[in-house]
Order: sequence, then structure tokens, then C-alpha cells
Amino acid sequence: MLKLRKYLTPFRVPLIISMVLLALKSLSDLYLPRLTADMVNTGLVNNDIPYILRVGGIMLAVAAFNIACLLIAVYVAAKAGNAFCRDLRDQVFTRIESFSLSEFDRFGPASLITRTTNDVNQIRGIMDFGLRMIVMSPVTIIGSVVMAFIKDPALALIFVVIIPIISTAFFFVLHKGLPLNTQLQKKLDGINLVLREGLTGIRVIRAFNKEGTDKRRFESVNKEYADSSIYVNRLMGIITPLVTLIMNLAILAIVWFGGFRITVGKIQVGDLMAFIQYALLVISALTTFTRLLIMLPRASVSARRINEVIETVPAVRDPEAAKASSGLSGVVEFKDVTFSYPGAECPAVHKISFTAKPGETTAIIGGTGSGKSTLVQLILRIYDVTGGAVLVDGVDVRDMPQEVLRAKIGYVPQKAVLFSGSVMENILYGKEDAGVEEIEHAADVAQAGDFIRSMEGGFDADVSQGGLNLSGGQKQRLSIARALIRRPEIYIFDDSFSALDFKTDARLRRALKKETGQSTVLIVSQRVSTVMDADQIIVLENSEIVGIGTHDALLASSAVYREIVSSQLAEEVSA
Ligand code: ADP
Ligand code: MG
Repeated sequence: MLKLRKYLTPFRVPLIISMVLLALKSLSDLYLPRLTADMVNTGLVNNDIPYILRVGGIMLAVAAFNIACLLIAVYVAAKAGNAFCRDLRDQVFTRIESFSLSEFDRFGPASLITRTTNDVNQIRGIMDFGLRMIVMSPVTIIGSVVMAFIKDPALALIFVVIIPIISTAFFFVLHKGLPLNTQLQKKLDGINLVLREGLTGIRVIRAFNKEGTDKRRFESVNKEYADSSIYVNRLMGIITPLVTLIMNLAILAIVWFGGFRITVGKIQVGDLMAFIQYALLVISALTTFTRLLIMLPRASVSARRINEVIETVPAVRDPEAAKASSGLSGVVEFKDVTFSYPGAECPAVHKISFTAKPGETTAIIGGTGSGKSTLVQLILRIYDVTGGAVLVDGVDVRDMPQEVLRAKIGYVPQKAVLFSGSVMENILYGKEDAGVEEIEHAADVAQAGDFIRSMEGGFDADVSQGGLNLSGGQKQRLSIARALIRRPEIYIFDDSFSALDFKTDARLRRALKKETGQSTVLIVSQRVSTVMDADQIIVLENSEIVGIGTHDALLASSAVYREIVSSQLAEEVSA
């Protein structure tokens, strides 16, 4: 909670204004019972109509002042609170954007979403309601007791009895309930996780008739959350009847003992009424204060969770002093590179060394899980190497600002990711200021021009969320166009032709050849036909390079490569 304090600084002024107004409101609350006492003791007893009217007028004025203070205070606080939370969400989001994949893997998307939404809302709740309680409750409780003591110390002893009783009762309830509260958030993360998987995997769930399993999975986390929630609320539900009971007992005691005090002439009837009002003020202040005690730990868990995100320093960071490029353009060099995913037992790529030169195509072939995608992602610095170094244009990628590095690269990921918007917007994602001709050219080279033009609206046609209205091959070609339009020094195609038929694949590579010219091209593939024309082919097996050379050289030297080739040729023959 305290750690988030520094983000509150810009809102200091409205919050202080709001607190002062709330204090004034509470003080004016204390004045009303006094006026009641005067009204009864002097006005009603003597039937003094002008006095009654005057005091009544004052009471109305005080009440109006009271409401005005509260309204303005709540308005100002709500505005500041919402602005604060908007900034906080912004902070969290900005930080998440700077995360490298390692941090994403660590938190998980479901938890990151809960942290940005629900946890921030908890903080807002505490700022709205908590601020009010934190100022008003102490003022009301202390003020009421003081006022009561001034009137009649003997009768005021009742307060000395009831306040500890109520406090102890509340303490016991809270002591049991609070730890459960902190578990609730975790369970909410769980619901989010299952819900998210269910939504993104809906096709697979349908295809395998697993609606039932998925439903049971959701029901189980949902029930867990509900059960905890119900238990906590039931526990907290004891508070209200408990308060009513204590309140009534307190009033009974005040009337009882107050009656004696009146008969001995120590106080008057009006004072008794004032006492009852003070007792009610104290009890209601204590009750709301308890609610604050319930909210505070929950909010502080949220604050901690938010803070965890904000304070996480991404593993992939820009260097403090960037090294100047050596004037090379597009050279990618792996020097004895090893990389293990966080927590993995074996490295995903191991002792990899090769150089990819401008004007040449370097292809990487290997079975699933051999580390191809991992290897090319190291060039983009999506993860940092654990050993060795990746050099781009002669400079270690860790010594280069990420923006500079990534501006050199046109990357087509293995899984085509599109964003909701138009086709044009998706291509422009690669280069914001591209002209219409550039867009059409990129689309044509990517063999996407024809199908785009046949879509309703052509380049303005809608791409739905995640590109659902496009086929796998169409998505791949759009994401290729998106990379082409950048005209980068380095092209990386991660299995980007896998969803294309052989004919389109061949046509696309022919068009690419002309397009990429003096750039460095890295092509990851499992198809021999895609890689056989490359200037250098790297054969990966079990995270290591087992062969490197041209198609013909590898056929002569590499058993693994020969095996891949013969298995695929057999397939083609039998097909
Ligand atoms: P390929 O692209 O050749 O199919 P990958 O580079 O995707 O292979 O994967 C290589 C190895 O790294 C696999 O064993 C895979 O299980 C592991 N791996 C891939 N991505 C992650 C990740 N985000 N976290 C942990 N392990 C991963
Ligand atoms: Mg892959």
C-alpha cells in the first residue's frame, strides 16, 4: 500500500481538500445532538416558540452544511481516485508492454489482466470509501466521547464500557475473516485462467467434445471462489446483527442510568436524547471502521500485486551506452550461443555458431522442437542468450537499443498474429507511413494481393479479432506482407510458408528473391523444397547444429539431412 504512495503525489491537493471537508462534516455531526439538547431543555420545556424556531433554523443550517461538505468531499475524492487509478492502470500497462517474454511467462496473462483491472479497482474502492472512513470515524468516535464527558462524566462511563466490547467482538470476526480475504484474489486469478483458456481454445474444446470437461473445470474454480466468498461474507454478516444488538443494549443502558441521573437533577431530558445520539454516532462509526479493516488488507494485497508488476525490471533491457554500428548492414552472427528457457532442464539451443550474410539466404531445417523458433527469436532479443552472443551488424544485440535492433528486422512469426482492423491497417503495422503503392506491392509479393482484392472492400476489408475471418494461409501471407513493407536489412521467416500449398510457396519464394535483394534472409522450415535453394542450410537436431552447408554438400555429408530429404521425397512420391 505504502509503496504505491508515490503515485498519489499528483493528487495530494484534492485529497487533502476532501479530507478537510470530511473532518468538517464529522465535527458538524457532533454539534447536532447539542442543539437537540438545547431545543428540548430550553425550548420545549418552557414552550418558547421563538427559541424553538431559532434553534430549529440553526439545525437546518448545520444539516445543509453537513450535506454540502459531504457531497463536495465525495465528488473531489472520486474524481481524484479515478484519475489516480487511470494513471495506475497506465503504469501497469506500460510496464507490461516493456516485459520480455520471460516476465510474461512468469506472471501469466490471466494474472496480468486481473492485476490491471480488479486489483486496481480494489485500490479505487479504498480511496473512495476508505478515505471517508479514515477521516470521519476517529473524529466521530473521539468527538462523541468527549462531548458526552463534558455533559455528564458519570453517564459517559457507558461509552467506556461499550467501545471495548464492540471492538473485541469485531476483532474476533476480522481475525478469522481477513486471511480468507487475501485468498479470494488468488482464486479470482484461477477463474480468469480457466475462462481465458476456455475462450481461446473453444474450437478445440468443441472438436473434442470437451464442453463437459471444460464446464466442470470452470465450475470447480467458480465454486471454490464462491464458497470462500460466501464463507467470508457470512462471517462478516455477523457484524450487522451484532451491532444492532449492542446498539440496543447501549440505548437501554443510557435510558436506564440516564433516568437515575435525571431524577437526581444531574442532567435534563434533552441531554439524555443527546447521549443516545452520541451513542448511535459512535456505534455506526465503529461499524464503518470495521468495513475499512476488511477492505484494507484486501487492498494491500492488491497494492502488492500491482507493485510487483510495476517494480519488475524486464530481463531484456536497453543498454546504458549504446554501441555504434560497425557500418555492416544485415550481418547476423551467432557466436557459440546457448539458451535455456527459465526453469527448463535442457537448453533449447546449444552452442550454435554461424553467420548469415547480406544478399544470401540462410535456411534452418529441423524437426519440431529442435529449437528453430527459439533460435530466430534470439536475434530479435525476445529472450536474452544464456551463453555466447548474437551479433547483428557486428554489435552484440544486448548492446543495442531494442528499437534500433528491431527496426532492422522484418519478422514473420510461426503463428501469424493479426489485429482487429482493416487489411490495410494490418499491413501498415509494419511501416506506419507507407503509401498505397507500397502496400499493394508488399501484398503482391506476399501473394496476398489476389485474395485481398477479392474480399469485400479490398484493402479496407475488415480483419476480425485474431484474424478469425481469414484462413491460416491468408493470415500467413498478410503477416509476410507486414514484414516486407518495412524493407528491413534482415528478414526472418519462421515456418511462414507452412500453410501454403507448394505452388504458392514456390511463387512466393521467387517473388521474395527479387524483393529481398541485398538483405539477409533467414528462413525456418520443415520442408526440403523450401530450403534447398538456400545459400546455406543449417540442420538442427536436439538443439544443436548437426550440419551446415548447401543442399548438395549436405546431401553428401549429413546423414540427418539425407534422412529428412528421403522421408519427404517418399511422401511426395506416395502422395
Ligand atoms: P521448433 O521451432 O524447432 O519447433 P522451438 O524453438 O519452438 O522448436 O522449441 C524448442 C524447445 O524449447 C522445445 O523443447 C520447447 O518445448 C521449448 N520451448 C519453446 N518455447 C518455450 C517457452 N516459452 N517456455 C519454455 N520452453 C519452451
Ligand atoms: Mg517453431
